[in-house]
Amino acid sequence: MYRCAHNCNNFCRKSYKLPDLIMKHDKNPERLLNHNNLLRALKPAEKDLLLPYMAPYPLRKGEALYEPGDDVQYAYFPCNTALISFMVMLADARAVETALIGREGAVGGIVSHGHLPAFCRAEVRFPGLAVRIASRDLEQAKNAFPSISNLFTRYADCLISQVFQAVACNATHTIEQRLAKWFLAAITRTDDHDIPITQEQLASMLGVGRSYVARVMAGFKTNGSISTHRGHMIVNNPDRLREMSCGCNALVHDHFDTVLRGIYPADT
Ligand SMILES: [Zn+2]
Repeated sequence: MYRCAHNCNNFCRKSYKLPDLIMKHDKNPERLLNHNNLLRALKPAEKDLLLPYMAPYPLRKGEALYEPGDDVQYAYFPCNTALISFMVMLADARAVETALIGREGAVGGIVSHGHLPAFCRAEVRFPGLAVRIASRDLEQAKNAFPSISNLFTRYADCLISQVFQAVACNATHTIEQRLAKWFLAAITRTDDHDIPITQEQLASMLGVGRSYVARVMAGFKTNGSISTHRGHMIVNNPDRLREMSCGCNALVHDHFDTVLRGIYPADT
């Protein structure tokens, strides 16, 4: 049951450099699901029902879990520091990030019934481990336990709030505010101030020109909030970023706290 999703005899340790802590936990199903806040919120009987259908899945940086139009056959629950971006594909082939999903949530139609085509690309932003469950198995579990369905529906409400906030943020806030917000969201979920991302990737995700991002990043470096090193960005002063951020993260966090208390990672 807990075979690696890539069909290795053991977990893909050789191919994917995952933290030892996760590797240690992946053999214990109950501990594995405790690394995703949403799964951890399930009641014991609900966990027992889902456990046989869960499998660890190593998320590789840049991997597309599904593309627009794909039949969504699995739900992925990122564990610990793993991050997945929802990327909307535009007519001119650009891809813009609309939501960043970490251990507070899931991707892959956990609310919808049956197989539905994906609207956007789900792309791994920060590698790590996920719990993967086949959509059909999740469907049966939701039918057996309406409380599971209720939990995921509440999460869907939070996700919609995240997307609504992103729309408002993109329309009204400056690139500096949005970039500061993005870095804070990333380090809050990954617990790591070292983010493997380039200016080009940031510009693409935000749907803005690279020169704008370069100008803002130069300001971040000058004021000491961020430094760069070989394709990585290191957050040196989160407080300074917080001062420059638009505060949209806090509004999303508040909504999560109202609807699903304790699920959203705290901004520390
Ligand atoms: Zn904003």
